[in-house]
Amino acid sequence: MTLTIGALRAEPGRKTRGSLSADLGSTTAEVPLILVNGSRPGPRVVITGGVHGGEFIGVDAATRLAGLLEPEEVAGQLVICPVANPPAVYGGRLNISPLDGVNINRVFPGDKDGGPSDRMAAWLFEHLIDGADAYVDLHSGGIDQYLLDFVGYRLTGDDALDAKNRAMAHAVGYELVIFGTSADGGNSHAAANRQGVPAILVETGQLGDRDPATVRRLLDALYRLLRHLGAIEASEHIKQPTVQPRDWIWTGDVESPAAGLWYPDAVTGDEVTEGQTIGRIIDPADGAEHKVAAVSTGMIIYNMSGLTVRPGTHLAAIATPHD
Ligand SMILES: [Zn+2]
Repeated sequence: MTLTIGALRAEPGRKTRGSLSADLGSTTAEVPLILVNGSRPGPRVVITGGVHGGEFIGVDAATRLAGLLEPEEVAGQLVICPVANPPAVYGGRLNISPLDGVNINRVFPGDKDGGPSDRMAAWLFEHLIDGADAYVDLHSGGIDQYLLDFVGYRLTGDDALDAKNRAMAHAVGYELVIFGTSADGGNSHAAANRQGVPAILVETGQLGDRDPATVRRLLDALYRLLRHLGAIEASEHIKQPTVQPRDWIWTGDVESPAAGLWYPDAVTGDEVTEGQTIGRIIDPADGAEHKVAAVSTGMIIYNMSGLTVRPGTHLAAIATPHD
């Protein structure tokens, strides 16, 4: 079957590279897309990188994957979008778009009559995510984040969908598999789930890393995932994982209560207990100190490495093993 997205077309057995314009209201974004239409029937798999700026590993890995995969080895249709949010990515910004200050990964599925980030999200939903058989969103610890590699998925209340999400998450081959207990919220994978699309979040690398070894780690993971989904068969690229995936439950985000200077006492990988002080925020004007406490018991899976924070900045996230 011909794969058509906007003005881009790929006949069966063909690969098409190009870009499409997304109307963001005040401006347009050129969204790069690679369509790999397999020579055999199979699932439609959509992969996005660059939803956030400053997260380079997914952008690099998606671009390399698009170059490596040929239609002869693909069953079904792969849609690869290495830079899903061009204003934020090329603006060199972190979690927010320079156009409107919005974190796009809090507004999915977006609003085509809304502001620029809402429109960008709605465009991605309409053109890429709706109708996918599986969706994978690639993120990293940003320039200001220490982060352990992990895969995220949601429980949706639909047992069949939950089983697909969980199987995809485990197929990635990372040790940390962290689930959230509902499909609420504006994250891309949660919003995809609410449309019935199996979807996961894959987080790889930290601190704005662009190390080729980290990119390789994600590429290996993507090949394992594509084989699990039936989109590719045996390939020399498929390597067995070296770790056993383990389910964890997402138990809390710690947000900054104030603007000031952040001094963490507990960092990524540390075990903490609910109520424990995990850092302090110092007011540079008068030296006043705000203690910041863990909101749950578990392990810190990412934490803010930046010094300067404002109210609502994510300082840490905590997860707990679920056996
Ligand atoms: Zn991100």
